[in-house]
Amino acid sequence: MATTLLQSSNEAHVSKVCEEYSLTPAEVKTLHSRCSSAKATAYCPYSRFRVGATILTDDGGYIDGANVENASYPVGTCAERVAFGKAVTEGHKKFKAVAVATDITPPASPCGMCRQFIREFCELDTPVLMFDKDGAFIVMKLSQLLPLSFGPEALPPPSSLPATA
Ligand SMILES: [Zn+2]
Repeated sequence: MATTLLQSSNEAHVSKVCEEYSLTPAEVKTLHSRCSSAKATAYCPYSRFRVGATILTDDGGYIDGANVENASYPVGTCAERVAFGKAVTEGHKKFKAVAVATDITPPASPCGMCRQFIREFCELDTPVLMFDKDGAFIVMKLSQLLPLSFGPEALPPPSSLPATA
């Protein structure tokens, strides 16, 4: 199921995803529509590759982001990191799902840097929904996108570290 191409217009596909990832059909629909709409807010004059991202918070809220490029190319930021930056600075720390949308098909997946960024704030079983331009999508857990990942729990607590001079 993990890499199966699903259709957001197919009720059976959506309900299977809902069952597997503890989401409701309304949440999947809203994630799809919001991340698709968020593409319109992208600032991508250089690549013209629009990406929208939406995060579902554990209290049922939605936070959107889009890619923001820069004349100094590496300075640009992906949609996922924009969305998580907004969410975290607005006080959200727990999330139920992540969704991304692009204008291509098949669906694009979050880049490596974003997978690591998401890892900081999401459980390994958090679903990442990846939508293509036509509403077809793939769902994978974060642990599948980023196997053997390095996360916050791997670091010793700061209080256990020796004081530095
Ligand atoms: Zn990225």
